[in-house]
Amino acid sequence: MYKCSVERMADKINTFSKYGDAGHGGITRYALSEEDNMARAEFVKRMEAIGATIEMDDLANMYATIPGSNPDAKRIVVQSHSDSVKNGGNYDGILGVMTGMEALETVVEQNIPHEHPFTVMICTNEEGSLNPPAMMVSGIVCNDLLPKDLAKNFQYDDMMASKPMVDGFPANFGEMLKNSPYRGDKANRINADKYCAMFETHIEQGPILEANNNEVGAVQFVMGMFNYSLIFKGFAAHAGTFPMDKRHDALYAASQALIYLHDEIDKLGRPELVYTTGEIYCHPCVHTVIPDEVEFSLDVRHEDPELRAKVLDIVKSVTERKWAGCTAEIRENWKRDTVYWNEDLKGFVEEACEESGANWQKIQAGAGHDAQFFSYMIPTTMVFVRTKDGISHSEDEFATPEDCTVGATVTLNAMLKADKFYK
Ligand SMILES: [Zn+2]
Repeated sequence: MYKCSVERMADKINTFSKYGDAGHGGITRYALSEEDNMARAEFVKRMEAIGATIEMDDLANMYATIPGSNPDAKRIVVQSHSDSVKNGGNYDGILGVMTGMEALETVVEQNIPHEHPFTVMICTNEEGSLNPPAMMVSGIVCNDLLPKDLAKNFQYDDMMASKPMVDGFPANFGEMLKNSPYRGDKANRINADKYCAMFETHIEQGPILEANNNEVGAVQFVMGMFNYSLIFKGFAAHAGTFPMDKRHDALYAASQALIYLHDEIDKLGRPELVYTTGEIYCHPCVHTVIPDEVEFSLDVRHEDPELRAKVLDIVKSVTERKWAGCTAEIRENWKRDTVYWNEDLKGFVEEACEESGANWQKIQAGAGHDAQFFSYMIPTTMVFVRTKDGISHSEDEFATPEDCTVGATVTLNAMLKADKFYK
């Protein structure tokens, strides 16, 4: 059992937290921004210091690689992202990069024998918070391998045309890339000929490990999901002159339907099922006008496709009646199946958890990660690290240096098991 260094991990956490420091404990570090460039420069500096070779591809993905004893062996990679959401935390994404760095630093420092080259990869624009969508670049790199209804959302030309959500940046993502000092050669893109296994270590972003007193989790799968919009149509009229009993108020209709959805879905009695309405559009959104059209989102996640189908039946039933005199329609925005991690790699993570002496458990992933697209290319798995109060995508996001180091130790030892397993 090789152990990573808590001092070195703490130093990395402190250092990377400066790049995009928003002044109140967290960071804003959009992909390919000045702040992201600073984090990438730090990555290069530290990886060159241990003798790693740095490569970049045409999407500004970065790869730091140390050789193994077998020059013909494929690479084993730890991958995550260096970008954040607006006013995000110091761990989401960058923890996986720091974990990979820590693993490689430990291998070099302790002269740990291994056959395969070991690589740390920064995958560009996971969050998509400046140039949407999320998981953009893994969606491009894995496009030919993804199911068609997923692949269509990540077409190269569409992605290059993605406009910034914030003023003061280049016209589109293609321009951001053109300006990036970290844009390299397409031939360097990760592929199955050169890589044989991937780990992504990430904060849990939920409260389960903490509640169970566990430092780390061996992730089993990413939950399948669907995302629908529900649209209610009535008619607009003056708020002062139009009597209540003659109104077709679309917002009132949507409110009733939302409560109906909660009541019916909760009757399924499955506590591990999660569903969310996080977006709502009200038209014309004027305080003196009765709304004529309201649309809200519904995001539903669970491992089991049969249960998701049951929830979808409930969603469809909304269209079978009128709500406060308004009609209801639904629209599918996207869906994805549950992605199960590679059995062998999952097993190596579980063994490494057990041998590390850490408190650990099997856990599921509810959020999307680049690893799920890469899993269509090469065997892939994930490790989760305990997150304080389950908070993420927030400046309050926190994981202790000790827990982050346990995550790195587990990742490193799982990599070494994969190193022996793959020929
Ligand atoms: Zn992330």
